[in-house]
This record gives sequence, C-alpha cells and structure tokens, in this order.
Amino acid sequence: MNILITGGAGYIGAHVAKQLLETTEHNIVILDNLSTGIARTLDTLHSIREFAFINLDLKEFDKICTTLKEYQIDTIIHFAASIVVPESVENPLKYYMNNTVNTTNLIRCAVANGVERFIFSSTAATYGEPVNISENGISEAYPTEPINPYGMSKLMSERVLRDTAKAHDGFKYVIFRYFNVAGADIHYRDDMLEPRIGQSFPNATHLIKIASECAVGKRAKMAIFGDDFATADGTGVRDYIHVDDLADAHIRAIEYLETHPSDIFNAGYGKGYSVKEVINTMKEVTGINFQVDIAERRAGDPATLISDNSKIKSLMHWTPKYEDLKLICKSAYEWEKRLSEV
Ligand code: UDP
Repeated sequence: MNILITGGAGYIGAHVAKQLLETTEHNIVILDNLSTGIARTLDTLHSIREFAFINLDLKEFDKICTTLKEYQIDTIIHFAASIVVPESVENPLKYYMNNTVNTTNLIRCAVANGVERFIFSSTAATYGEPVNISENGISEAYPTEPINPYGMSKLMSERVLRDTAKAHDGFKYVIFRYFNVAGADIHYRDDMLEPRIGQSFPNATHLIKIASECAVGKRAKMAIFGDDFATADGTGVRDYIHVDDLADAHIRAIEYLETHPSDIFNAGYGKGYSVKEVINTMKEVTGINFQVDIAERRAGDPATLISDNSKIKSLMHWTPKYEDLKLICKSAYEWEKRLSEV
C-alpha cells in the first residue's frame, strides 16, 4: 500500500509511522508542516527505514491533491490538527479552519484521487460532558455533544467523512475517538527503557506530560485542578492509553477495512485513574518528589471519562500491551529526560 500520514512528525503520527516502518513493507509518505512536529523525529524515523517526507500545510489545497496523485496514495491516516482545547475556545476559527475545513479538503482530494481508506483521529471530546454513564464507560453510541470548538471541529469532520463514504462506493473510513493518550516509544537499549520518540509539543497541558516535566526538574511544581469531584479521592478520573497501543490500533484499522465496513471506535483501556494516582505513580517510578498544589477546577473538566472499549476489542481483536500505568509514566519520564538533554 501507499500510505500518507498527515502530521507524521507529531506525537501520535510519529508512533504510527514508526510501527508501519518497523513492521510492514508499505510505502510511507509523511506530510507535515513541522509547526509542532520536530525535525529530529523525522531523523529517528529515517533511521528505521526510508520514506518520503513532504513539508506542506494542509491548507495548500492544490498541492495536497497533487501529492495524492504523485504517490498514488490508497490509504490516508490523518493526524494533522490543532489540539489545544482552551485555545479553541479563544480562537474557534483556527480550529474550524485547521481541523474541519482542511480535513474536508483532504477528503475531497482523497475521493477525487481514488483513495480507498481513510483513518481519522477523533477524540473523546466529541462526547462533551457525559452524564448517566453506565458502569462499562462511554460507548460509541453515547450522544455526541462537544462542549468546546476543538471537540466540535472533530465531530464535524467525522460527519463529513461519514456522509462522503455513504455517497462514494469504495471509500471507507475508520474513526478513532481517543481517550487520554500518554507515554512514549517503548524501546529498550541494553535492557534500559530508552524512547526514541515522544511528546515534544511545547507548553503542553496534559497531566502525564506535566508530571514528567516536574520529575525532570523543568517545572518547579504543578497543580491538581480540583479535589472536590464526585470520585473516590475527589480528583478527576481519566482513561490513559499508551501511545504505542493506540498506534497499533491504527495499523489494525488498515487491515480491518479490507473486509469490514466503515466504523467508529473508542480507543482507551476502559479503566480510569485519578489525578492523584497518576501523580503518585510518577513520583514512585522516578523516585522523585515534587511539589503539588491543589487549585481550582479547570473550566469544562468532567469528573470522569472512561471508555467502553468492548467494540474495538471484539471487532478489531485489539489487545493492548502497555496498560500498566507505571510503564506509561516511566516511558513519558524517560522521554522527557532525553528531551531536556539535547
Ligand atoms: N490535570 C491536573 N493538573 C494538570 C493537568 C491536568 O489536575 O496540570 C487534570 C485535569 O483536570 C483532568 C486530568 O488531569 O482531570 C487530565 O487532564 P489532561 O489535560 O491531561 O487531559 P483531558 O482529560 O483534559 O483531555
């Protein structure tokens, strides 16, 4: 296959590229404008196996179409997007342009150039602030009512994809709704965990990234946003999924579409950890204590977000390998250490 990965220099895209380069013989084309992805990630990927890299912004509509034609792309895995929730509230048009409009254009070019498969990274933010969740977590059938422009920009892209696939035979999709993606490349050298790629995005807002920045001393302290939620210890509960398990789901999706119809899947472990549990785990695996304050709740943070992952497990036979929260925290920390060394 000829596979185009948009946002392939970014966090999740690079982990998918890594697995495709390591475990398959598909031709890979990475398209990225390097706005948040880093060039060093591309060097690491190049050391695994050769691939084509195109430095291009998705808003270059004509060039996108030309690229699909030139490389005879039959599969697109689409990651390139803006992903910061508070920024989406302040600057919604950036999100509707970068996410919804650019994705719509990519789909338009895909259909026009005979692309057969489209794998799309969506988000649990499409569910909004869920209430009355069953014990099994949030299933894909749960109503989608995003509470911020980021979630809405992704949901609108989902609809474009769904309607287009309905109208065009031979064009199929898999949509993944990600829960909390964390951790870094599980790669060992001399029995030591040594991630080659990881999250490099500056000014990160995600819990595990921030806790690893504290552990390596990049930040003096961090805050727990609210300890009065209706959860066991009062802090927010989330479903953290290791980025390599998530990447594996994308590779399965390519094969899945050979024999199955288009569909939407939650990507999470179906198990939740509280903010306190995550921070304590980070302290435990690193042996480093850092200051943690209690702060106000962050606007729009629901108490609990846990996936019902029975669909992806049963239909795609996806079996996660890195569910251990300690390994998720340890890999994030080891990557953070490497990031601060260079
Ligand atoms: N969180 C926190 N302190 C931080 C960052 C996050 O207490 O510095 C909490 C946040 O309120 C939520 C959980 O950690 O309950 C996960 O937040 P994150 O931003 O990682 O992902 P989200 O679930 O918002 O997508």
